Amino acid sequence: MKECKQCGTCCRKGGPALHLQDLELISLEGGIDLIDIVTLRKGELAYDQPEGAVVPLACEILKIKGTGGEWICKFLAPSTQACRIYKNRPLECKTLFCGDPEPLLKIYDKERITRKDVLPEGHPVFEIIEEHEANCDPEKMAVLAKYILENWDNSAEQQADLREMLMYDKSVRELLVEKSGLPLESMEFFFGRPMNRVLSGFGIMASPNENSFTLRKTKGSA
Ligand code: SF4
Ligand code: SF4
Repeated sequence: MKECKQCGTCCRKGGPALHLQDLELISLEGGIDLIDIVTLRKGELAYDQPEGAVVPLACEILKIKGTGGEWICKFLAPSTQACRIYKNRPLECKTLFCGDPEPLLKIYDKERITRKDVLPEGHPVFEIIEEHEANCDPEKMAVLAKYILENWDNSAEQQADLREMLMYDKSVRELLVEKSGLPLESMEFFFGRPMNRVLSGFGIMASPNENSFTLRKTKGSA
């Protein structure tokens, strides 16, 4: 195969990460809105294409959201398998061709953007983002989860810390939506994936209950 047939197979494996060249597409009519973006934060587990494995992220990236609880790009029209923003598709999509992975590999981890590149300097939510980063650090979560999994019956203190982190994450999103009127769908851009979803990657399921979270091991966890 010498050219892209627009079959959508690559789009079903996950949407692109965003690069500097994509900044102009954000908020462009017919382009990408903040509600279409998910922030993957440093320390979260994510699939790395060149490595072909799930690894902790070395730095923050912004990615087009998936759909239906999976990574299938939200812009892929299910009925036609066509890209709904084809004219304004991001750089990785323009570069990717399954018949020749080299061009994508060359740009893959270059000039990726973060929330700081998208939000204007002094944006009022930035202070809240920084507090959230300090209180809900995925690397700290990974350490806590590892300890808890290895010492489930003797980790009350660590489980309490984990629940506190989950509660903070949940309440900061709810509060910002309530106070600012920002859409709920934009919270994954501002604060990344909800921390109970991040936690499931580390082997622990957390289900919200009335006042906190119930923790249990995911299938296959130690
Ligand atoms: S790059 Fe390959 S997999 Fe992706 S849409 Fe084109 S032909 Fe399909
Ligand atoms: S933005 Fe369009 S081309 Fe890119 S992965 Fe999504 S559906 Fe495919």
